[in-house]
Amino acid sequence: MTASSNFWLQDIPRQLAALDAAALRRTRRTVAPLQGARILVDGQPMLQFCSNDYLGLAQHPAMIEAACAGAQDFGVGSGGSPMVNGHSTANAALEEELARFVQLPRALYFYAGFATNASIIPALVGAGDAIFSDALNHASLIDGCRLSRGQIRRFGHGDLAALEQLLAACPVQRKLVVSDAVFSMDGNLADIEGLLALCERYDALLLLDDAHGFGVLGPQGRGSLTAAGLTGAKASPRVLYMATLSKAAGISGAFVAGHELLIEWLLQKTRSYTFATAAPAMLARALQTSLQLIEQQSALRDQLQARIAQLRAGLQPLLQGKGWQLLPSETAVQALVVGSNDAALGLMEGLRRHGLWVPAIRPPTVPVGTARLRIALSALHTEADVKQLLAALQELAG
Ligand code: PMP
Repeated sequence: MTASSNFWLQDIPRQLAALDAAALRRTRRTVAPLQGARILVDGQPMLQFCSNDYLGLAQHPAMIEAACAGAQDFGVGSGGSPMVNGHSTANAALEEELARFVQLPRALYFYAGFATNASIIPALVGAGDAIFSDALNHASLIDGCRLSRGQIRRFGHGDLAALEQLLAACPVQRKLVVSDAVFSMDGNLADIEGLLALCERYDALLLLDDAHGFGVLGPQGRGSLTAAGLTGAKASPRVLYMATLSKAAGISGAFVAGHELLIEWLLQKTRSYTFATAAPAMLARALQTSLQLIEQQSALRDQLQARIAQLRAGLQPLLQGKGWQLLPSETAVQALVVGSNDAALGLMEGLRRHGLWVPAIRPPTVPVGTARLRIALSALHTEADVKQLLAALQELAG
């Protein structure tokens, strides 16, 4: 046998070295639960501010009980695509509950959030069609736009005047406007009424991703669209509402809800729905319990709001010295922008030494020069927890 050169094994070390040089190499840590917001990270006890489990439902006893009962009834796997044998009675019941909860005509339940966005957009638009995408949209929406082969027109973050110009100049009939409802790395809200008004004026469809608003915002946690007064009798047939079930709902998966015809079309055409194994019924059962808890436990949202207010007030005096910027946000996601990748990693490391686990977020997740700490708050956090974070940040700022 002759020795052959292997381009891949020579190239990958070079690429990894470039990531190291730019402070962009990513590492994983193993975590194990402790109590409340406390976890073990690589065996070290830490107070975490990184989980998207905004209401603390992921370990709620009622959810665990529902999942176990679901496993007893259905087993732990679904056995196939929803189009063949995976659409269990539990998954069907969850879809009914989701539609009722968000006050929209019909809902479709998917096994994963990323795959939902990456595949519903190509189901809606194709080559020659036009997509209008906010510059800070989540990676899954961006990938969905790319996969669709539609013409992507990116507008500046939240810049409705720019969006209107693009829509007005667009000769294409099938137009889709895509936006996070709560931006995942900034925590701020999209102007949903403004987006919808433009979609009405220019006959476009609006796809909203409310991954970070569902369960947290609006009456009983019904999400951003209900908070904007655009569900129930006021539901618009030109809005598709997508939310993940992996954040406040405490598990995983996602759903898309909207007009009967739009959902029927997605059922027919979404490749990650047809060609992927359905979510296990045990999760659908636990998610039904999650919806009940979200609806009934307003105290969890009150607790979260109190921590948000406490953190924001406590951070104000720390902002001047180091040039840190706290982005505007009324949600569980609080972004403390520090600028360079090294500065963000340094701050994360400083907090780690204080027993605090807060992720540094770097490009390409956020724009170059806006590396940050993404502080995720949860109903699990106590007043003392947030005080501890603020005290450590004060020391590191000084
Ligand atoms: N949309 C947004 C806005 C997200 O932040 C995420 C993931 N964090 C997703 C979609 C993907 O959802 P999932 O993690 O449930 O696959």
